[in-house]
Amino acid sequence: TRILGIEGTAWAASAALYDSESDDVYIQSDAYEPDSGGIHPREAAEHMHEAIPRVVADVLEHARETADSASEPRATDGSERSSSSQRDSPIDAVAFSQGPGLGPCLRIVGTAARTLSQTLSVPLVGVNHMVAHLEIGRHTAEFDSPVCLNASGANAHLLAYRNGRYRVLGETMDTGVGNAIDKFTRHVGWSHPGGPKVERAAKDGEYVDLPYVVKGMDFSFSGIMSAAKQASDDGTPLEDVCFSLQENVFAMLTEVSERALSLTGSDELVLGGGVGQNARLREMLADMCDQRGADFHAPEPRFLRDNAGMIAVLGAKMYDAGETIALEDSRVDPNYRPDQVPVTWRSDESE
Ligand code: ATP
Repeated sequence: TRILGIEGTAWAASAALYDSESDDVYIQSDAYEPDSGGIHPREAAEHMHEAIPRVVADVLEHARETADSASEPRATDGSERSSSSQRDSPIDAVAFSQGPGLGPCLRIVGTAARTLSQTLSVPLVGVNHMVAHLEIGRHTAEFDSPVCLNASGANAHLLAYRNGRYRVLGETMDTGVGNAIDKFTRHVGWSHPGGPKVERAAKDGEYVDLPYVVKGMDFSFSGIMSAAKQASDDGTPLEDVCFSLQENVFAMLTEVSERALSLTGSDELVLGGGVGQNARLREMLADMCDQRGADFHAPEPRFLRDNAGMIAVLGAKMYDAGETIALEDSRVDPNYRPDQVPVTWRSDESE
């Protein structure tokens, strides 16, 4: 199966080709970088408008170049062509991120996917972006039934599979984890995205007291963000604020991840989302898993931050399970939750 994936929920205009036979993932991305402040939805949509056609054209060209080698050896009259080349298309389907994300960006991605599907006469697969963050972890680790911590910009969830759905076991009660960090860095005048800058500054810091809020399986970042801004306004050295911010925010995520492992009885944890690129977060999660004898897996960085590779990989699994959608069902949903998705592509559905 060969799937062209398109991603554009917030900042990454991205297209990818996934070939399930070779397991190759070819990704082309173009990042929106705000001149000042955070992600502005209208500017991000303008970026999508301009960059999506470019990355899609590049990936489509790659798909055409590799289509012949991916097909079965065929007779010169074309009688033994593979399924995609039977339709003269280098791909079998177009998968796109249907949500969650910024509405103006999603609508451009949806339009691009529908156009491509019509032009190439291939079906459409609508992918939930958060489920894709999870599934790329399962795919690259070949874990059976892990708990997943999605630590991304606009979200923070703990997910686990139960009775045909990925259930949300716990989540942020306010902002996503990356957005919370970015709000603090905006306040101190650092450019977007703030996560990598906090990670660098934290290396030289010492601990100062900041709020820590976990309620059962849920957690909150707004109090710690206000306190971090206040601490920097009060003259606390920025490296100390960054260090303490990371320690508390990541300890909160580690605590709920451990609770999720304990409640589900799973001994596998996968990490997803752009904040997963942070070495300190990975270290804390790996230590916790080590202490309880669980396996931990973080996909490589190109699969952690927003990328179309994860959309194409999950798109292929959904396509193979018959999960294509009609044009009239392809509307995007900025609030599309992971537990709205019936999981039909797993063999262990009875769990
Ligand atoms: P979502 O997937 O929820 O839609 P998103 O579209 O904003 O989120 P992601 O690519 O998953 O995007 O994550 C981007 C976030 O990751 C940004 O908030 C950024 O600051 C954060 N981030 C990137 N690198 C690091 C790092 N090294 N440490 C901490 N945070 C990081």
